Amino acid sequence: MQNLLDRLAKDFTELSFVSGEAFCWSPEEKKIIYKSEYSSVAEWSLMHELAHGLLNHTIYKTDMELLMLEVAAWSKAEKLAANYDIIIDKNHIQDCIDTYRDWLDARSTCPECTSNGLQSDSRHYYCLNCGLVWRVTSSRFCRPYRLRA
Ligand SMILES: [Zn+2]
Ligand SMILES: [Zn+2]
Repeated sequence: MQNLLDRLAKDFTELSFVSGEAFCWSPEEKKIIYKSEYSSVAEWSLMHELAHGLLNHTIYKTDMELLMLEVAAWSKAEKLAANYDIIIDKNHIQDCIDTYRDWLDARSTCPECTSNGLQSDSRHYYCLNCGLVWRVTSSRFCRPYRLRA
């Protein structure tokens, strides 16, 4: 992992690589935050965050747009990874995208009547069925983890 990080830092001097609590792309600071761990998944995650950075993913208005950017980042990550002799497992990609999709589902479900709501802006959804408006937390380019009860 350190070896890979050194290579990436050299190949992409416009971005900075900083260790942190979770894999994340920070568009404001052009920073790729990585978790120091030695695993294939860590390398794949690093490639994914790098892809966000290279695609210059910054703004999205809705959760659906974020999901599209996630899909685009994985596709770019696969190509990037090949340059470093890394093959990203397709099942892993599917799992990550499914996680986002579940997260989006949970956010868009009306807390009152469980109908599927529509997003009005980055922080609000509304329900066509019962008229409820609800707030959601702002979303980020971080892998959302499923909340466990
Ligand atoms: Zn992502
Ligand atoms: Zn409702």
